[in-house]
Amino acid sequence: MRQSLVIANWKLNGDLNLVSQMVQCFSQDSAADYATDVVICPPAPYLSALHAESLACAEDAVNVKVGAQNCSEYTQGAYTGEIAASMLRETGCEYVILGHSERRTLFSEDDSLIAKKLKAAQQAELTVVLCVGESLTERENNHTIEVVTAQLAAALDGADFSRLVIAYEPVWAIGTGKTASPQQAQAVHQEIRQYLSQLSKDKGAKVPLLYGGSVKADNAEVLFAQTDIDGGLIGGASLEADQFRAICRAVKG
Ligand code: PEP
Repeated sequence: MRQSLVIANWKLNGDLNLVSQMVQCFSQDSAADYATDVVICPPAPYLSALHAESLACAEDAVNVKVGAQNCSEYTQGAYTGEIAASMLRETGCEYVILGHSERRTLFSEDDSLIAKKLKAAQQAELTVVLCVGESLTERENNHTIEVVTAQLAAALDGADFSRLVIAYEPVWAIGTGKTASPQQAQAVHQEIRQYLSQLSKDKGAKVPLLYGGSVKADNAEVLFAQTDIDGGLIGGASLEADQFRAICRAVKG
């Protein structure tokens, strides 16, 4: 049985008020009513507050887990502005998103940097949510599987599969309102699953695979119902508590 996960990526959005609103919204629900783990990745200054508020919730309520949106490849030293994975772990983070297409394109993060960050994160006992996905041109030229496989190959050399989640996020679907059809998403997820199983026969089959790209409350259920889709990485729709909650509840047991 694979773990189901719905992860909120707030990007450079949100505030302390949204942290409280989210935790309160989920704390009204019983964990027993959810077939998924719920993770929120706010901007770094809000990580501790999210962790503290989440810890203060009733034991049987939905426990919101904490994730970061990035980490340094370095562990310590003269690297102004960087945040080490071990520091994130100390704030209560369990997850870190790496390889997001915005980091790849806007901040020039290449595969080799992402591989270094992945190792640093896993060494600090964080679970890495590794994002992969093709551009529109790459899809139109039938290069989707080639691109995604190359991204996986570059990042996963020596990776610990027990601390790994893969998010398939077609770049053309992120923040655009264009979602991959459930069939398109499933087809890529199936290829990713096969590829991971080749790399590690036992552990590859257990890595949770998430879909990301304009997931909303009204398309989540059909996407999450696909055989190889174990949940979602949610951007825009994770900034509104009721909508994000509805997306989490779209994961069926
Ligand atoms: C994302 O940024 O990871 C994402 C999937 O964004 P959106 O849901 O807004 O497309």
